[in-house]
Amino acid sequence: MKIIDKKYIRAAGVQEALDIARHNNRHARFIAGGTDVMVNKQQGNENSEVLIDISDIHELKGINVGNEFVSIGPLVSLEEITKSAELRKLFPALCDAARSVGTPLIRATATIGGNVLCENRCLYYNQSEWWREAVGYCLKCEGDICIATGGPNACFSELVSDTVPVLVSMEAKIRYYHFNGEEKYVLLKDIYTGNGVRPRLISNTDLVTELVIPANKGFRCVFNKLRLRESLEFTSLSSSVSIDNEGKIRIALAGVDPKPVYLETHKGETVEEVVKKLLKLSRAVDNDVFSRNYRRDMVKVFIEKSYKELGLI
Ligand SMILES: Cc1cc2nc3c(=O)[nH]c(=O)nc-3n(C[C@H](O)[C@H](O)[C@H](O)COP(=O)(O)OP(=O)(O)OC[C@H]3O[C@@H](n4cnc5c(N)ncnc54)[C@H](O)[C@@H]3O)c2cc1C
Ligand code: SF4
Repeated sequence: MKIIDKKYIRAAGVQEALDIARHNNRHARFIAGGTDVMVNKQQGNENSEVLIDISDIHELKGINVGNEFVSIGPLVSLEEITKSAELRKLFPALCDAARSVGTPLIRATATIGGNVLCENRCLYYNQSEWWREAVGYCLKCEGDICIATGGPNACFSELVSDTVPVLVSMEAKIRYYHFNGEEKYVLLKDIYTGNGVRPRLISNTDLVTELVIPANKGFRCVFNKLRLRESLEFTSLSSSVSIDNEGKIRIALAGVDPKPVYLETHKGETVEEVVKKLLKLSRAVDNDVFSRNYRRDMVKVFIEKSYKELGLI
């Protein structure tokens, strides 16, 4: 067994990673590309005592394309996703979403597993320790109120992962293991809680081993992203609209709620009706560089644009 007081431990295999997690329960966190964890650490928002580096684990790498499913290892980098000819052919929107993350250097290191679990963001939270201390800590960093809303009860930090809306709109599933060996295989959308303080059901010491997308539903899908600059910018609104070979439409949004906003619809519903439902589900607040109202207005723009691209209007 590994020594507990070590701060940074490299795991060679899945079982070893789970053993180290069990041994350091509540104090550990997995690290893959580190592009989210290390920035949060630098800002004092991530305080795990032990980091378990999983980047050497071979079983967690690789893309496997089958007739019914495509399996993506959580350590597949966003650059690999962007450049995969098979994924480009089957799921071009996923490649577009991966390509919209950060910069080429970040995408070379950042993984898809880390992307679906990257921490929610807020203008008042993703700041240095001294900034947050000066303003007064908020609910997400053990303060008493939400600075964005002034309310004492809820945090609305936004889900900002760009691949999540695309994966969710294509019914992707996630497989992960608790350190006691218990396996979970669930729809990706179901791991998000909607609570900005603890946005996911997956704990720091649950190990994600696979993302699975159905390959037999003939998904056509369109991704859009709102951001200040065309590079090195987190999303202020990401949308993904898909239609399968039975005409079922699935829409997922990021950047306007702590979890992905998700809606299933059909060709019979108008854009206005769909947007009305999406806005009812979106709990966007003024905690982004773009105002809440602007982001909500852009939902209609993105849905209309996607519907046109898919030939639905
Ligand atoms: C300048 C900059 C710009 C960025 N821009 C964007 C952007 O536009 N869009 C976007 O979506 N993201 C962006 N990011 C965030 C980040 O780079 C990505 O989300 C990236 O995909 C995270 O992957 P990672 O492998 O680096 O994750 P890590 O930092 O290693 O981990 C992130 C989280 O996932 C957990 N984790 C990782 N792998 C596993 C696993 N297999 N099992 C269990 N837990 C795991 C970690 O414990 C941690 O909680 C940006 C980051 C930076 C620094
Ligand atoms: S939404 Fe409110 S509680 Fe949540 S991180 Fe932002 S300021 Fe803090």
